[in-house]
Amino acid sequence: MTTVTDNAKEDLIRLLGKEKVFTRDDGKLDLGTFDSYGTDRTKVYKPNYQILILPETTEDVAKAVDYAYQNGIAIVPSGGRTGYAGGAVAKDSEIVISLSKMNKIVDFDPFLGTLHVQAGMITKELHAQAEERGFYFPVDFAATGSSHIGGNIATNAGGVRVVHYGLIRDWILGLTVVTGKGEVLRFNGEILKNNTGYDLKHLFIGSEGTLGIITEAVVKLTKPPKDIRVVFLAVPEYKNILEIFKETHNFSLPLLAFEFLTDYCLNKVKEHLGVSDPFPAPSEYYVLMEYEISEESDEEKLFAILESITEKELITDGSIAQNTRQNQTFWKYREGISESLSLAYTVHKNDISLPLRNMEAFLSDMQSLLSSKYQGFEIALFGHIGDGNLHLNIVKPKELSDSDFFQRCKQVDPEMFQLIQKHKGSISAEHGIGLLKKDYLGFSRSQTEIDSMRAIKAVFDPKGIMNPGKVF
Ligand SMILES: Cc1cc2nc3c(=O)[nH]c(=O)nc-3n(C[C@H](O)[C@H](O)[C@H](O)COP(=O)(O)OP(=O)(O)OC[C@H]3O[C@@H](n4cnc5c(N)ncnc54)[C@H](O)[C@@H]3O)c2cc1C
Repeated sequence: MTTVTDNAKEDLIRLLGKEKVFTRDDGKLDLGTFDSYGTDRTKVYKPNYQILILPETTEDVAKAVDYAYQNGIAIVPSGGRTGYAGGAVAKDSEIVISLSKMNKIVDFDPFLGTLHVQAGMITKELHAQAEERGFYFPVDFAATGSSHIGGNIATNAGGVRVVHYGLIRDWILGLTVVTGKGEVLRFNGEILKNNTGYDLKHLFIGSEGTLGIITEAVVKLTKPPKDIRVVFLAVPEYKNILEIFKETHNFSLPLLAFEFLTDYCLNKVKEHLGVSDPFPAPSEYYVLMEYEISEESDEEKLFAILESITEKELITDGSIAQNTRQNQTFWKYREGISESLSLAYTVHKNDISLPLRNMEAFLSDMQSLLSSKYQGFEIALFGHIGDGNLHLNIVKPKELSDSDFFQRCKQVDPEMFQLIQKHKGSISAEHGIGLLKKDYLGFSRSQTEIDSMRAIKAVFDPKGIMNPGKVF
């Protein structure tokens, strides 16, 4: 791979215009420092790159990628930089292409209920645009105030309502992409049915910028839930959490979210975000459930669920939020965890997915591993438990340096991944592989699968310029 030459900036300015090409000397940019465009939330890697491009159209992106292709220069696609896998880190003199200025609506179809948007639209803005038109876009999580829809698609983002609405993959009708050869491909447009061979858009969903740049997307919308109820429960034992989840299947009431956290996590949120205790007495675990309420009889169903789990002694306390403010407080207990931890601590994150039926056995093995390898370390455990997704955060003890801490975690990770493999899970539920997990991809994918992925990459990116070194 060639590195960026002195001529590259002038060449790119000639192709795209002065207002779209930047170097470090250009000072502060709209959304932060030059370096901030070439990094994400991992805090593990330092950005090192010289040229940033802020395109405004798919054609701009195609011209920039074509230039990089002709000159063999590597590219890092950059979205909202909220990723936790190092996917948007430019540390080897790549050109960074940020989609931040590609944030416009292209079209709206009121018949099917779809929005065609540029990929740099902030996810929360997409929520607002859908709402303005009487629709709802259900992919949501604590970083959607900064993440881009393109970044969400590139990581196949999940979030807090996957248990009901699925992953973002389920909400994409069409994609426009610029491949690693600088070609523009428009997959599927805006039609619902199209059985004409391979559905290539799905290869780009979750590809972490390794096949090309997603520049536009047609997203499906749905109707918003009529009303919701958020319930917060105090749960004494882990196994009760799964029993409560199982219990919810016995009632025909749409469960939109089923999340859990430990008392340690709740205490961090209380400490850093100033929220009050949910219950008079603490509990080892907490569960947050969100239900859709469409008619009066749904309220009765909700009470029946709570009655049933109380009678079975699965909870020690519970509360239904009485208003929007209390809804927000309950959600803050869960969604404030990552923010609270990142405000005050260095953490090593594991984003694990397991079949629910294997979860209890996995947790027992995991506890043994944690107590032997991370003796005295604090652990924050929470996640989208209804999806079988655990966020396991190891908190750095104050006395350890960052490098000693990450070194220690790197030594323990393979043992953790062996356990995940043993219990038929995945080493990355939703954050992706990026730089952080690429050495361990083999714990979740076979060599034949990895070889097939490489062969697919070679089709769309024959010179290997798209986000090289990420995923594999
Ligand atoms: C507090 C917090 C909570 C989170 N909770 C969740 C959660 O519940 N569920 C979840 O799934 N994730 C979660 N994340 C992780 C992260 O927000 C998601 O992975 C998100 O989808 C990343 O989007 P982004 O725009 O920030 O992408 P970035 O971080 O900028 O990039 C992520 C990857 O996508 C590539 N990329 C970005 N844009 C494009 C594009 N247009 N074309 C091609 N490739 C591109 C990048 O090169 C990189 O490999 C959370 C993060 C934080 C900080």
